[in-house]
Amino acid sequence: MSKSAAYAAAAADRALGPITIERRDPTPDDVQIDILFCGVCHSDLHTARNEWGGTVYPVVPGHEIIGRVGRVGANVTKFRKGDLVGVGCMVDSCRTCSNCKEGLEQYCEVGNTGTYNSPDKHIAGATTHGGYSKSVTVDQAFVLRMSEKLDPAAAAPLLCAGITTWSPLRHWKVGPGQKVGIVGLGGLGHMGVKFAHALGAKVVLFTTSQSKVEDAKRLGADEVVISTDRAQMKAHRNSFHFILDCVSADHDVNAYLRLLKRDGVMCLVGAPEKPMAVAAFSLLGGRHTLAGSGIGGIAETQEMLDFCAEHGITSDVEVIAIKDINTAYERMLKSDVKYRFSIDMATL
Ligand code: NAP
Ligand code: ZN
Ligand code: ZN
Repeated sequence: MSKSAAYAAAAADRALGPITIERRDPTPDDVQIDILFCGVCHSDLHTARNEWGGTVYPVVPGHEIIGRVGRVGANVTKFRKGDLVGVGCMVDSCRTCSNCKEGLEQYCEVGNTGTYNSPDKHIAGATTHGGYSKSVTVDQAFVLRMSEKLDPAAAAPLLCAGITTWSPLRHWKVGPGQKVGIVGLGGLGHMGVKFAHALGAKVVLFTTSQSKVEDAKRLGADEVVISTDRAQMKAHRNSFHFILDCVSADHDVNAYLRLLKRDGVMCLVGAPEKPMAVAAFSLLGGRHTLAGSGIGGIAETQEMLDFCAEHGITSDVEVIAIKDINTAYERMLKSDVKYRFSIDMATL
């Protein structure tokens, strides 16, 4: 075992602060990574504050990890010391269930091992700790190759915000000739806009923030709708093939379901704390589907990262020092993120 500096929340109502954690020595299949940057996902905040229940304290959040390989185990063939690599939301899964065999480890039937707040398979009784830390040790099967062509601070958020929006856009075959809505311009939403645009769809961004209109257009939206304006919403009725909902807080999904064309699909990736009310008539009037999607599998994540390297796509980030993480959380709650915080781990 070796010690690593980290930042943790000690309880749901406590600010994050410094802590020292133990990292395992690499097993033959492990890669030890010196972390350079870690993106700040709203899921980190939901977990730190126990909004979904089940948080084990102290919790070290962070699942948008980019760093350089420090050490590798004897069986590691995919990576060498010095390689630029990434780790997303999972660090393991059962690898034998039908979903794992299909490369959909995120839907592992016995549950994947989350990068943080999951039972640690290697240390009895311990809980996994995430990327708000100097070092992490991960099985090579869950480590991604990162391109040297992309800015590492801006590439880190691809590991969650990127794959979480990419996966449903690909699954529902978003492309040319389709009108696609993205709801909420935060970390996920701004990647959704970039990807839907890159895939050739006509993109409409829905926002509650008047101040984000010009940015949304720069990021790739063809049109921007202020979702609190009833007339603007009504003008888009029965017109969308697909809508991706990236909102982190309580909101009315029926207002968006009504905008779908016949047989249109609305997919939730946002995961608000409270259950939402769905009116039957929002669905049955146009044979609409309300769906959900969770992150993405490892192979699909690599495919997305390679697409980003080829097309020069990264996240728009504000780089912060780790000591500013609590301020960043407060700003995230006010929808004041442009459009992802990325922690420079040299500041830890
Ligand atoms: P974020 O950066 O905080 O963005 C959320 C955006 O939602 C805000 O920027 C805001 O956009 C909008 N919003 C916030 N409060 C709202 C309200 N009360 N009503 C309407 N719109 C509101 O969060 P994120 O990191 O992108 O994460 C978004 C959600 O996805 C979180 O719940 C997170 O846990 C979840 N998530 C899910 C997965 C998955 O696997 N499905 C993966 C990662 C994250 P505007 O200012 O444009 O309105
Ligand atoms: Zn996330
Ligand atoms: Zn499995």
